[in-house]
Amino acid sequence: MDIFEKCYAPSLATDLQEKGVYPYFRALQSRQDVEVMMEGKRRIMLGSNNYLGLTTDPEVIEAGVRTMEKFGTGCSGSRFLNGTLELHLELEEALASFLHKEGVITFGTGFQSNVGIISALVGRHDYVICDRENHASIYAGCQMSYGKMLRYRHSDMEDLEKQLRRVPEQNGALIVTDGVFSMGGDIAKLPEICALAKKYGARVMVDDAHGLGVLGPGGRGTASHFGLEDQVDVYMGTFSKSLASLGGYMAADKAVTEYVRHTSRPFIFSASIPPANCATALAALRKLERHPELPERLRDLSLYARKGFTDRGLKIRESALSAPTPIIPIYTYETMHTLDAAQKIYDRGVYVNPTLPPATPEGEALLRTSYMATHTEALLDEAMDIMAEVLLHE
Ligand code: PMP
Repeated sequence: MDIFEKCYAPSLATDLQEKGVYPYFRALQSRQDVEVMMEGKRRIMLGSNNYLGLTTDPEVIEAGVRTMEKFGTGCSGSRFLNGTLELHLELEEALASFLHKEGVITFGTGFQSNVGIISALVGRHDYVICDRENHASIYAGCQMSYGKMLRYRHSDMEDLEKQLRRVPEQNGALIVTDGVFSMGGDIAKLPEICALAKKYGARVMVDDAHGLGVLGPGGRGTASHFGLEDQVDVYMGTFSKSLASLGGYMAADKAVTEYVRHTSRPFIFSASIPPANCATALAALRKLERHPELPERLRDLSLYARKGFTDRGLKIRESALSAPTPIIPIYTYETMHTLDAAQKIYDRGVYVNPTLPPATPEGEALLRTSYMATHTEALLDEAMDIMAEVLLHE
């Protein structure tokens, strides 16, 4: 059989393109901002992870430009060998102090961080225990590790305990959860997860891609939101959302980051973050430190949007109803209806992300909307009016 047969077979993508509702790979002709130009038209952006709006911040841009002029465009090597700049160390130290952890190491992307951390920490005789709605990069890390993976139903603490009981006492266990779930916008039940981890001698890792710069005092993330910073053993995060750049990190006790630094293949055998991205992540972090009101504004706006959608009669996923996170999933249920609605909303000037099975359970397709601290209430009202009109009246 020809291994390429599947590539030439009819696909859902071509079918959707023919029907004029294909929603992916749309190209921006402007900066990533609250309003963007796409296909020659202004669109209100309700689909970006640029939560603090810092990708267009003059200080952050200036830091990137200055650093690229001084250090060039790339590092041409791994952190392990020729690819470490003093700037990487400065970024790692700044993050360690912000997150109140001894050790931080940075990776090329958030995806790579999860793969690199989990594959290094979970050995042949270990167990990794995942929430079913964890991000794909966590699953990729589990697949790459030599350990055994167990999964529990989304935020179901009884099921988590059941899985923990399956781990023999002589084996190690790592519970991994998104802090803020990337599709659902709900917050992990960290108090219960940490208590169960303690009871069964497991360690806890939180992927805070959507929690950093969003939750907790000063935007320190999901653990700080619950006052549990000392009970979460490993934080993972990304620079591609609140910190307006590209890259990812792990924060933990120094002994743990040192172990990963010397054993993680995705860390050792891949090039380091380019100078400009390092500088912009650092500048964004400094800005966040100086402006704790930014995450507060983001949370207020997120609650404003939740109320706005509910008042307009739209159905938000239950678990995300009261969480102050900048991810609001609006149920549209059926796949073709969801794609059709997303296209109509886009044609009227609002960009949202349709999320379809298998990313959601069958029959629970939704429109994932997300918010930035730099949105205005007026802009959100305009977008919500358009969405309500399409979803309720067409
Ligand atoms: N974890 C979660 C929860 C995410 O949502 C994402 C990105 N969507 C990642 C990890 C990967 O981060 P990056 O885009 O930096 O690779």
